[in-house]
Amino acid sequence: MLALLDFRVRQRDFLLEISRAITAQLDLSEVLKRVINASVVMLSGQVGLIALRDASGAYRIRATLGVESSRVPFLNEQLKEMLEMASETHEYAAFDSKLRETAEALDPRLVQTFALPLVIAGEARGLLIVFRANRGTATPDDIQVLQSFADQAAIAVSNAQLYERIDQDRKRLAAIVQHSADGVLMLNANLEIVSFNRALERMTAWKAADVVGLPLDEVITWKRVDKGDLRESLDAGWPFRSRDNTGGDVSEEMVYVEGDLLRRDGLTLSVGIRYAPLLNADGELTNVIANVRDITNFKQAQEMQNIFISTVSHELKTPVALIKGHAATLRREDVTWDADIVREYSAVIEEESDRLTALIENLLTASKIQAHQTMQLNQDEDVRLDHLAEQAVERFKSQSGRHSFKLNFDDDFPPVPGDSVRLRQVIDNLLNNAIKYSPDGGLIEVGGCADDVSVSVYVRDEGVGISEADSEHIFERFYRVDGTLTRKTQGTGLGLYLSKAIIEAHGGTMRVESEPGQGATFIFTLRQS
Ligand code: ADP
Repeated sequence: MLALLDFRVRQRDFLLEISRAITAQLDLSEVLKRVINASVVMLSGQVGLIALRDASGAYRIRATLGVESSRVPFLNEQLKEMLEMASETHEYAAFDSKLRETAEALDPRLVQTFALPLVIAGEARGLLIVFRANRGTATPDDIQVLQSFADQAAIAVSNAQLYERIDQDRKRLAAIVQHSADGVLMLNANLEIVSFNRALERMTAWKAADVVGLPLDEVITWKRVDKGDLRESLDAGWPFRSRDNTGGDVSEEMVYVEGDLLRRDGLTLSVGIRYAPLLNADGELTNVIANVRDITNFKQAQEMQNIFISTVSHELKTPVALIKGHAATLRREDVTWDADIVREYSAVIEEESDRLTALIENLLTASKIQAHQTMQLNQDEDVRLDHLAEQAVERFKSQSGRHSFKLNFDDDFPPVPGDSVRLRQVIDNLLNNAIKYSPDGGLIEVGGCADDVSVSVYVRDEGVGISEADSEHIFERFYRVDGTLTRKTQGTGLGLYLSKAIIEAHGGTMRVESEPGQGATFIFTLRQS
């Protein structure tokens, strides 16, 4: 009797020890391995199985002992059937006989079976099964001990599952942060860097491994700050907590800092950084999370908008002022104008109205190109570029007395398929520029050459020319070379942008050859068919 008592005490100690070892584990597969080993040892069994319910509620074998892994699909199949039978008949007997059949199929010597549910908070989460060859009967005490062990194991499994899920969530979150297109930076309360994602490596030219542990100010350095200051906000008591209007949640305000970041390689990048505080339960700042966004495109768009507004308003003002002035003069009731004056003033009004119409047309076309990335053409005619050039020269000749003009086309210059209205616009624009940007006059030559597949047309002047740096930009929307001549000269910076778009819509190319002070030659090339 004493010996039996001693055995029971030792069995309980063993159980306790194992339970502790199991519950201390957070790795699910290790927990399952320990549970199954302990159960088989405790019952002097030969085979052990643990099935857990997956997300769909179905039982799947997750750990085995004493079974070859090739038998697992068979065991899963058997398990499915026995659980279906049990749920249909609500009888343990059917389940039990299927269980015995399974044990026998594995090894005919396995004559005893034990199956215990792993239950957490009243919910079955899995099944612990042990098969043994021993014919000795299990006492109710054995079963009770085993059940209490199964309960402990269920808690351990549940903890490990929870941990696994949290770990999975953590990994998923880390992957999101790592692969985010925005830079993400985590700081501790002393503003030292705790983590630094890949996007931020690209933005700052710093490597994450080199910055962890460094103070923020050593890595995030500014060439220019336009808005906000994290240190100032902290000194002023940030994070400020405010109740939102709905009277509910307490929200922490973010600090927004914007400016030109000085990268490690000396280059600059326009960024906006949003700092969000992370507080502990006592409301103390534990971390700061920074979201860093590259705002270069946004800044460029803003700049473009400013240029657009100033250029367009300037270009609109001149003709509108002229129209208004001439119309007001003609309307004066105290003077009777003779017919010549009326004609002359009306002509100015008409010309300036045409200019306004052309400007508006150009703006609309430019915005359509922006939206569709290309230009719509009526491309069904054979266009004689030499004739267009001749007509244009005739028109411009009468406008400019300071320039001499020369045409240089062979008589058999081939026609090209295209949109004659648009191609005329290109030649007019190049000639107009040649005049505008050679204020001292000189020769303006328009010519062309052709081979079997393509034709090229050039417009050459002897004007101020264009530097190499500006040559790269003059075909951009609203770009105008910064100089006194350009400032004095009317223009929107749209002419070359539209000309190039027209030539490219025809499948051709356009370029410039120039040196400052040496004049400029604009050349476009189109396919012959
Ligand atoms: P704009 O309306 O200003 O003339 P364009 O798009 O036609 O606009 O030209 C863009 C800029 O390129 C001009 O502002 C001028 O600075 C430069 N440019 C164009 N053509 C010439 C040229 N023939 N010689 C020198 N500079 C030129």
